[in-house]
Order: sequence, then C-alpha cells, then structure tokens
Amino acid sequence: MTQNQFNNELLNFLSSSPTPFHATLCLAKALEEAGFQKLNEADIWKLNLGEKYYVTRNDSSLIAFVYTHNLSEKGISMVGAHTDSPALKLKSNTLIHKKGYIQLGVEVYGGALLNPWFDRDLSIAGRVSGLNNAGQLEHKLIDFKRPVAIIPSLAIHLDKEANKNRSINAQTDIPPIMMQSSEEISFTDILLQESGLKEVLDFELLFYDTQAPAFIGFKNEFLASARLDNLLSCYVGLQAIKESSLQKSTLLVCSDHEEVGSESTSGAGGTFLHSVLQRLCPEAESYARMVNASMMISADNAHGVHPNFISKHDENHGPLLNHGPVIKINANQRYASNSQTVSEFKLLCKEAGVAFQNFVTRTDMGCGSTIGPITATKIGVKTIDIGLPTFAMHSIRETAGNADAFNLYKVLKFYFS
Ligand code: ZN
Repeated sequence: MTQNQFNNELLNFLSSSPTPFHATLCLAKALEEAGFQKLNEADIWKLNLGEKYYVTRNDSSLIAFVYTHNLSEKGISMVGAHTDSPALKLKSNTLIHKKGYIQLGVEVYGGALLNPWFDRDLSIAGRVSGLNNAGQLEHKLIDFKRPVAIIPSLAIHLDKEANKNRSINAQTDIPPIMMQSSEEISFTDILLQESGLKEVLDFELLFYDTQAPAFIGFKNEFLASARLDNLLSCYVGLQAIKESSLQKSTLLVCSDHEEVGSESTSGAGGTFLHSVLQRLCPEAESYARMVNASMMISADNAHGVHPNFISKHDENHGPLLNHGPVIKINANQRYASNSQTVSEFKLLCKEAGVAFQNFVTRTDMGCGSTIGPITATKIGVKTIDIGLPTFAMHSIRETAGNADAFNLYKVLKFYFS
C-alpha cells in the first residue's frame, strides 16, 4: 500500500467513524474483510492455531488477535489505542425550548476544547436502544449525516471582550440550536423515524462536525480532521494487524472511555483485555509466563510543538509534525515507557527505517496520560507509550502530519511480522 492510498483510506475511516460505536463497526468490517473471524464473549471459544479473530464489547471497544502456539514462551505483541474522543453528548431529557428555538441540552464528554465547537455545521450520531417490530430489544447505530444543529457565537458587538477574556459556561453557552418551531416537538419521534425502532428506550448520542477530513497545506503536508485523537492510532493499528504474520501472536485493542479515565466495562481500566488474554491462555502459570514475554505499544497522539507557542514545550523535547512517531516519557509514570521498552521500540524504528522523536513535558507543567499506564498496571505487561505528533489535541478539528501515520504503520508492521 502506498502512503497516498493509506491516507485516503484513513480519511474514509475518519468520516465513517463519528462515534466510538461507529469506529468499532468500521474496524470490525475491515477486519472481517481481511479474514478475521468474529467471536462473541458469551460463546465458548474454540480457537484454531494460525487463525485471526476479533471480539467487541459494548459495541464500542474491540480486540483483534492472531492466535498461534507457544504463547507462554513467545508472548503476544500488542498494540493499544482508544476509540473515543471529546465531544458534546446529548442529555436524556434533551429538548430545551426558548423563544421559539429548540435546542438540545448536552454534557461535555472528556476534556473538549470548547471554543472550536462554535459556528460549526453539527450532526448527531450514536446508539439508540429500544424495541423493534418483533418486540425485541435492539441497539441500533444512527447517523443523521446532514448538519442538523449549530452553536452560534455571540456577535463581538455584544461581547467586546470576546477576543481577550472569553470564557465558556458549559451549561448555558453551548446547547446547540436544532430548529425553530412554535409547536411541541418530540425528540423520541425523531429517533423513532431515524432508527426504525417501534419504541425508543434510551440513547447515547454525540454531536460531531460534518466538515470532511482533508489534506491541508501548500504541499498537502498536513491532515485535518475531527477525532484524530485517537482514531489515527486505531487506524494505524488496524492496517498493521491486517498484515500480521500468522506465525506470531499479535493483538490490537481499541478501547472506549479513555477520555474520561478508562474506568468502565469497555475501558482500558476494565476487564476486557485481561478476560481475552485469559481465554487465550487459561492455565495460571502459562498465563503469567505469557504476560511476561509480551509487550504493549500504547499508541495515542502527542503534542507537536506549535510555532506560535514554542515555550509550551521543553526546548529539547518539542516533537515536529512529519518527523516520525514520538516516544513519550514521564518520570512520574503518567506514561508507561521505560528504558527497556523504549530501546525495543527504537530498534523497531531503526529496522523499519523510520525516524523517531522524544517527548518529555516541561518540568513546571502537568502531563497528560493515556491507556499505557492503566494497561501496564492492570495486566502487568511491559509497555511503551508512543504517538503521532498533532496540533490542537481535543479540538473539533485536529491537525497531523501527512507522513507520520504511514511511518508508524511501517514500524507496527515490522513489530507484527
Ligand atoms: Zn488520546
């Protein structure tokens, strides 16, 4: 696959994945096309050596793996990423009526950068649960696709301080405007129509920006899209495991709820990965040996140094876009990397012919975290945190380098071979 093909498919993946549910569905479809067989956690598993499988939990997290022999001696080469991104999530009794406008009440999911959500053409997607025509409970994914709402800015004439001291009250300032109507509207009726269900019982719906992902820059150096954090890593992991050797045990885990701390049934702080690993290797001593022989590459985006805000990075550790994957290091274990895993990753990069960069945060600033330390703690597997450098993390539109995802793919392909 060329870098162009790879990036064009990436843009399609981003467009088709407005929510973690849709991302998981896209991953599942791509895996099935590549010969991975679907497993269900509720079934008894009969795994065959040299075959490829995947399993989902809550329709929002996914584990794909290649199953081979000698797990306890050779371990599993694992990659982890997350399917969720910060967003605005509809409240249960969502409709707000004001001055003939109908708005939707929202919660802020994760650490969203709120300013960029204003003046965007917003749509809604997610999961609706209810009874189908046969009277059975069904969980359906919906996506309105067209822009159905907007959060207009307040004109500068009404807020002279807007460019200096603007703050956003998440309760009062951001409910998107969906329509103008003097009549009572039923949001349930809207969902019935969209989902085809007979009765709606609950929903998990998110707003998203309808602007399509795009190549940006005079020489197309950049990629701009929503949800690059962390669908970028999910996609790179997907493409790498699709080409995994069948002689080696490899695994990709894409978890939901990273942006809110990973503590959930489907999050990295839950039991999903542990449960799957146990089913691959049920006997206690073999399991312990397998974990000891395994490694996890936790892939989540990094902060590229922004030329307008250079002082926000340590001067020796400012990753640049299009200069390769970033190795994330933190003395206080906000990242799980240690010299053992870092050196293994550097060797992989060298063997794949890909440059790498180091990131350590300014010592007078706090440091983000990700699924790496959580997985290392939960499973006890040696782990490295890496990621691709981006601008505007947690904005509704983030920017990455055109060359970086393909380069990380080359490294992970090598790791999985
Ligand atoms: Zn992330």
